Amino acid sequence: MTSKSQYPVWLECASCGHTIPFTRPTKACAQCGGEWLDARYDYDAVRELWPDALSQRPFNMWRYRELLPLRDDAHIVTMGEGGTPLLHATNLGLMLGCPHIYFKDERQGPTGSFKDRQASLAISVMKEHGITEAIVASTGNVAISYSAYSALAGIKMWTFLTSLVPSEKMREVALYGSEVIKVTTTYDQTKKVAADFAARKGIFLDRGIRGISAREGMKTVAFEMAEQLPRLIGTGDTPWRTPDWYFQAVSGGMGPVGVWKAYQEMLLLGLVDRMPKLACIQVAGCAPIVNSFNKGLEEAEPVLNPQTRVITIATGTPGPAYGYLTRVVREHGGAFEAVTDDETFRAMHVMAKLDGISMEPAAAVAFAGVFKLLSKGVIKRDEVIVVNCSGHTFPVEKHLLGDEWAQTVEVPAEASAPGRHPTEGLLGSLGQIDDRVQRIAIIEDDPKARLLLRRILQTRGEYHIFEAADGIAGLEMVRREHPDIILLDLMIPGIDGFAVLEALKSDEHVADVPVIVISAKELTADERARLSGQIDMLMQKGDFTDEDLLEEILKRAS
Ligand SMILES: *Cc1c(COP(=O)(O)O)cnc(C)c1O
Ligand SMILES: [Zn+2]
Repeated sequence: MTSKSQYPVWLECASCGHTIPFTRPTKACAQCGGEWLDARYDYDAVRELWPDALSQRPFNMWRYRELLPLRDDAHIVTMGEGGTPLLHATNLGLMLGCPHIYFKDERQGPTGSFKDRQASLAISVMKEHGITEAIVASTGNVAISYSAYSALAGIKMWTFLTSLVPSEKMREVALYGSEVIKVTTTYDQTKKVAADFAARKGIFLDRGIRGISAREGMKTVAFEMAEQLPRLIGTGDTPWRTPDWYFQAVSGGMGPVGVWKAYQEMLLLGLVDRMPKLACIQVAGCAPIVNSFNKGLEEAEPVLNPQTRVITIATGTPGPAYGYLTRVVREHGGAFEAVTDDETFRAMHVMAKLDGISMEPAAAVAFAGVFKLLSKGVIKRDEVIVVNCSGHTFPVEKHLLGDEWAQTVEVPAEASAPGRHPTEGLLGSLGQIDDRVQRIAIIEDDPKARLLLRRILQTRGEYHIFEAADGIAGLEMVRREHPDIILLDLMIPGIDGFAVLEALKSDEHVADVPVIVISAKELTADERARLSGQIDMLMQKGDFTDEDLLEEILKRAS
């Protein structure tokens, strides 16, 4: 099955440096038995080609072909993976006071998660090595993605899944024609069962992070980010650009390990001038990397009994990623952080409500990590943050929305009787929905900030919103509309917020309307004194969440 090699690839042992050409699956170094082998390429040749040659290529992950461990293009198994957009988290950034939060929209891969990069490469390499049957253990997304690509490549796939994987994901795996083996235990035990089965049957076992394909495939996220960032925030001294932070939800650590290697290669090639800081976020009910790092352990202490609903990243034994990532974070900065299931679901909900991005809980873990590290002051508000939005929407879980996610309209029986025009009865019924409406006035000159406030209020669906962009218009609006509450910015053109407030309080018709001041700057003691007794609440821009604001409004405008 070997064919002429278009692209040379070597395997280098991380322990002893022994190097061999990569021509077949190799588990360990022949010289020292070390199991961590790194792919190496002809970097001098690549330096000649990149970045110029790339401008001629389509924007998908195979544009980085020279730094992927496949020797012959003829074996590429592709469905258009990679090339996902790098998007600006507009409203989230406004709410948090961070102008530079971007996210890599990996939901847009062929099977809806960033595992498609790994799968496309892994299945291509299997094809190149003449493998026609393979085994993979998974918490869901790897099984889905490998199954899709192996269907295309004509490879029989055995998938071993922990029985905790939601049945929707399992059915998708089955749909692609893979064998689905549910193992009634944790993911770590499932991996062992899969390895035993592979050994017994003599079938090729995908080694996950211990193999080359997974890590090398994940590099392409970083190459793309580095190429995309200059278009969003301008170029520096190098053609491509490194963010200050890369955020990812982590289980086995394939992503951050691959991303780190990619930046090392880009640095070597002169495409970027520095490394990013890695923020590895785990879910608190299964956070072996975070906990072990905090305890200063050399080896990760496994979590034997994961307690989380976020099954996609419930890896209790992180394996070699632990040593690798802790070294990176110790030497270069970065962070390990854990977030609870509740914080995760909240982040998921916020991104959907504010920026229209619906992701699976595992991806939301990374966003919850942004909230947490911001509030801890670990990341600065003006830093450039890229979050891996790693997976697609999942059928929305019940507990995420609570009980009041829909309103039922009772239509009287006669309204739907045959032959009768139903409109009248329906309109009457819809009146029920309007009962709770409150009237809110926003006086704020920044259209983006107005949009964010409006968006936060809209998600409750019960408000009538009036807007004004300066002090004079704001005063007129309040006198005309008699709102239940006023949201007031201080730095507005014409007469400023302080003057608006004085005018309001000296007008008996509107003096008792509660006012929440939303300020962009820290106030001086003098300014605070001017506000005291006049306003109901002072909120700092970038320092409150949508829930905080809604709570304040509910407290006052009833
Ligand atoms: C696999 C996966 C992760 C975690 O990946 P690592 O192997 O830890 O890099 C995070 N989110 C989603 C959606 C995943 O499928
Ligand atoms: Zn070796």
